[in-house]
Amino acid sequence: MIVQEIIAKSVLSKSQIYDYAINPYVGCSHSCRYCYAAFMRRFTGHKEKWGEFVDVKINAPELLAKEIKRKQLGRVWVSGVCDPYQVVEKRYELTRKCLEILVKNQWPVTIQTKSSLVLRDIEILEKFKDIEVGFSITTADEKIRKLFEPGASPIKERIHALDVLHSKGIQTFAMIAPILPGAEGLIEELAEKVDHILIDRVNYFYANRIYTENRMDWAKEDPFFIEGAEELKEGFKKQGIPVRVLF
Ligand code: SF4
Repeated sequence: MIVQEIIAKSVLSKSQIYDYAINPYVGCSHSCRYCYAAFMRRFTGHKEKWGEFVDVKINAPELLAKEIKRKQLGRVWVSGVCDPYQVVEKRYELTRKCLEILVKNQWPVTIQTKSSLVLRDIEILEKFKDIEVGFSITTADEKIRKLFEPGASPIKERIHALDVLHSKGIQTFAMIAPILPGAEGLIEELAEKVDHILIDRVNYFYANRIYTENRMDWAKEDPFFIEGAEELKEGFKKQGIPVRVLF
């Protein structure tokens, strides 16, 4: 893994999903095989494959402290095109420092991650008036997880993290996209740990809205995704968990 420190020009960017997005890192060591953000590599000058490098925006908190003063209040997505709690966050704590600034100003935040490291910052999360923490979870089968998301936290760790956050009164959700084999096992596992569920066939909920070139239209007609989504929807409804299917 190549890790290099860089100086960014700005950090609070406009987003098509929420009002803003903050990406303290460029690149993502989770290295998901289906990653919708992999196109970012071409803007970095890196020759390594996506998942093999991370650029660290070491001035991200300083930038945010300045930018937050001159921009209009809005919801911030943490992160968008990287995981804010990937491995380097343990050492650099950039996400943590950015959250400290956001909570001081009480900006609403949506965190999305595949890492249980988010629990490290629970005392900051609890101070927000408006925050939700989502975990992307695509299967309940750890063998499948290792194949598709080799650098991310094991499924049980993610579910445990959701449980802890939910029990502290923090809004939680799970994003099941893409639906992978073994996703149906999540119906039981997520009960009473999330406030709602989002389901998509592939993760083009974000990809389509950000970068249309990354569309995977073939998946729209694929019976595996259609039947999988239906089964999940019914299962979660029986558990009393609100579900949004994004197609
Ligand atoms: S966690 Fe998200 S950004 Fe990181 S590799 Fe996986 S899909 Fe891409």
